[in-house]
This record gives sequence, C-alpha cells and structure tokens, in this order.
Amino acid sequence: MFAWFGLVSFCPHTKVAGFAQHLKDGRLMGSRCDACGRVSFPPRADCPDCRGAEFTFTEYGGAGTVVTYTRIAAAPAGFEGRTPFTIGVVDLDEGGRLLAWCGETLPEAGLQIGQRVQVVPRLFEDCEEIKVHYTLEAPGTTWAKV
Ligand SMILES: [Zn+2]
Repeated sequence: MFAWFGLVSFCPHTKVAGFAQHLKDGRLMGSRCDACGRVSFPPRADCPDCRGAEFTFTEYGGAGTVVTYTRIAAAPAGFEGRTPFTIGVVDLDEGGRLLAWCGETLPEAGLQIGQRVQVVPRLFEDCEEIKVHYTLEAPGTTWAKV
C-alpha cells in the first residue's frame, strides 16, 4: 500500500503514513496531539511537547506568511537545471513551517518577508511513489485533486 509514498528516507510503518493518502485525495494535513492539542506540520507521530503518542490528522488550508526566502544560483545535485530559482520558508496559519518554491501566481521579484501567501501541494503524478513539493502562490489560490 505504501510503495508510492517515497523511496528516499521513507519508513513504511510510520504512524503518519496516512499523510500521503490525504495528499492524493487533495487534502493538506497536519497532526493534532490527542493529549495536549498541539498542532504540527508536517504531521508528527509523537508530540514534541507532551510526548503523547496518539494524534488526529487535521486539515490545513495552506495559508501562511513568508518568514524568509532566498534565490538559489548554485543548486544542489539534481536541481542544477532549474537555476536560478527562489524558495521561501512559510509559517502556516494552523501551525508549522514548510519550504516552498515560487509558483506561477506569485512573481519572484515581488516576494517579501511578512507577505501573505497560499501554499499549494504539487504531486508528481508520473511516478509510482508519491513525491510532493509545495509552491508559494497568491492568497486565494486553490487546488484540487482531479
Ligand atoms: Zn501533546
């Protein structure tokens, strides 16, 4: 069942493996600790606050605020053909952070720290395993799983 969840750094027995199915169904999910209520993104199997081991997936809207960004000119292996590109760190409204690439609806030149953005998960559909990256888009941008 989890063969498509990724080939790199993937443990098929993780408690947060349901994250991949939610992505496939078009939902961006974090986790909420059943004991103390802490919300985490990406989802965490064990709570970093109270060490509780039970959680419930909670849906994220993907809206957030740019914490910082950088323009990459000398890319790591595998990304050489995409330079230059801009990536940003986003604080999600529901809690947690992620790294995302500038998307189609958000010009790189106008990106600013503190700017409101919409994060959109992008799945690579042409591979057996699940691979996802996120893009920074203009607020209000929506996505749907076809
Ligand atoms: Zn907790």
